[in-house]
Amino acid sequence: MFEIIYFIMLLISLGVFSYGIWQKWKFINIGMHGEQRTRNPWRRLWFVVRDGLILVRLYLRESKMGISHFLFLWGVVVILLNILIFTISFVFRDLFRIAYPFLKLSMTAAGVMIIIGLTIAVINRYLIKPSRFARKYEFAWDDNPVLIIFILAAIFGIILKEFVRFSDFNTTSLPYLLWFLHTIFILVFIALIPYTKLLHIFVAPINIFTKSEREPGVMREPLSEEYVGAITPADLTRRDLLASLACMRCGRCQDFCPATNSGTTLNPMFLMQNIRRLEKSLVKGSENSETKPEDILLLDTVMDMEGVWACTTCRVCMEMCPVYVEQMEILGEMRRGIIESAEAPPDIRDFLTNIQKQKNPWGEAKFKRDQWKKGVEFDVPLTKEAEFEWLWFVGCAHSFDNRNKPITQKIAKLLADIGVNYAILGREEGCCGNDVRRVGEEGLFQMLREENIQAFEKYGVEKIIATSPHCYNTFKNEYEGFDVKFILEIILDAIKSGKLKLKNPINKRVTFHDPCYLGRYNGMYDLPREILKSIPGIELVEMPRNREKSFCCGAGGGNLVREYPGEDRPNNIRAREAASTNAEILAVACPFCMIMLEDGVKTEKLDEKIQVLDVIELVWESAYGNQLDGNQLDGDQPSSDQPA
Ligand code: SF4
Ligand code: SF4
Repeated sequence: MFEIIYFIMLLISLGVFSYGIWQKWKFINIGMHGEQRTRNPWRRLWFVVRDGLILVRLYLRESKMGISHFLFLWGVVVILLNILIFTISFVFRDLFRIAYPFLKLSMTAAGVMIIIGLTIAVINRYLIKPSRFARKYEFAWDDNPVLIIFILAAIFGIILKEFVRFSDFNTTSLPYLLWFLHTIFILVFIALIPYTKLLHIFVAPINIFTKSEREPGVMREPLSEEYVGAITPADLTRRDLLASLACMRCGRCQDFCPATNSGTTLNPMFLMQNIRRLEKSLVKGSENSETKPEDILLLDTVMDMEGVWACTTCRVCMEMCPVYVEQMEILGEMRRGIIESAEAPPDIRDFLTNIQKQKNPWGEAKFKRDQWKKGVEFDVPLTKEAEFEWLWFVGCAHSFDNRNKPITQKIAKLLADIGVNYAILGREEGCCGNDVRRVGEEGLFQMLREENIQAFEKYGVEKIIATSPHCYNTFKNEYEGFDVKFILEIILDAIKSGKLKLKNPINKRVTFHDPCYLGRYNGMYDLPREILKSIPGIELVEMPRNREKSFCCGAGGGNLVREYPGEDRPNNIRAREAASTNAEILAVACPFCMIMLEDGVKTEKLDEKIQVLDVIELVWESAYGNQLDGNQLDGDQPSSDQPA
């Protein structure tokens, strides 16, 4: 009797489960084929084992939740194995007798693992309350029920196991009844999986298997010549739709997102959950009543205009996501779609027009690009006049922004002093296109790249020194065939070889702000710290969010020249964080960060407490001190007159 009821329940459970999975399959297939993501299957399987089964990536991001999920996951796996054995034993009774010691032991172990894992999760969620749980997603109805079901199933399982002895199986039906009830409980749970956040148990490993193999600094290539970014759900890739199902609403992306923290409408977790909800209108219901993907616009359905443009392309959402969701890249595709539809907001249009016409974001006249040279006591060599080994690509911010121009002048002198044979393009220099591409104007980016490559070929450029992490990123990752170095690599080599002597002590407490395009995009976390540690006297302290968890200054993705939406601003938040370390100097290594953080420090009225200086300025001070142009540490730098 039990057997028949059990098998009927099992079939119902598997049927409901399979129907849900079928719905998800149809949903995923609405998307386009994206880039190839199955090459190197063994390597990919290793990622699944490492990050999907042992949960190393989650552990490295939040150790207690890594342990909690590990116990929980393996507890569930053991229970599912037990159910399999229990099911088979209805047919082969002897199997149950043989397997009973294993079932008993493993069920206890699984119950204990699940209870410990859940206890950690519950304490974290309801007592410690990380800020990510303060923002509620209104459709997250299943958060608490899922926890409760698990806790009850685990407790029931342990009690049952203790209550029933194997000898009872031979004399009475009660133990079978109790095992049966417990198993029914689990069958209900299995049926619920595709309809709740539990789906990630199955989808997250597939998401991990299909993670991108691109370097972090390389944007997705357009999928075809006619490709216009993502306007409707059908323009997203199948992997994007799959990722929305893998998202378990852990909230780590929103916790670190500068746009979310500034109070804008952008929230990367909500973005993924809103995409997931599209299934309701696109797949559910009868075939005839389904809404066509082309009938739904992503803009204002999954994210509004403010949110799409508030993204600073800092990449921390992707870095923090335990299951390799690509929130930022989806926003990038939406930007491409909006640009193609000619619906970009006016400030973004101005930004692009300025770059198209004057080759810089502020629309400063092209001929002013090399005016910073007037502050250098020697003729900075030009590619059209000099024999050179390295092209120094100065970049827009170092050429036009008043706060950054003195740094540019110091770089010219430092490079000459350490014997680098370099030249600059002068007025022939354009914009590298890094931020143009991140804004979504693929056509203009291709044009800028073409123009720059022509200029490089004209002068036989093979090696490039970049002084902005934005230029460095795009030359290194999105142009081909050049040997590209970041300025601090050249400086560190010179320090190590003794060509640059840092002799004057700077007895200050210094904290370093990692630029996104140097750190998360190109993995250069140690380089600037090594330089700072080589300067005598400096005491280096870290901000709470540093290295891969660094909090963006708010400039990237076109936001350098925009009035940032939201109640707070990323640069103000970061300035407060830097000041909280009691550092006297906030060191930066990016001209965008310089503009933003100096503005943040002033806005927060922290300029009496902390001073923003480029690593180059600290190197200069230690190498030349007061001998050349006065002590820069007294705060006599000109401020930026560019919009920030
Ligand atoms: S890239 Fe940065 S700003 Fe954009 S969604 Fe991700 S975390 Fe937020
Ligand atoms: S996208 Fe990733 S980090 Fe963000 S909530 Fe989902 S699983 Fe967590």
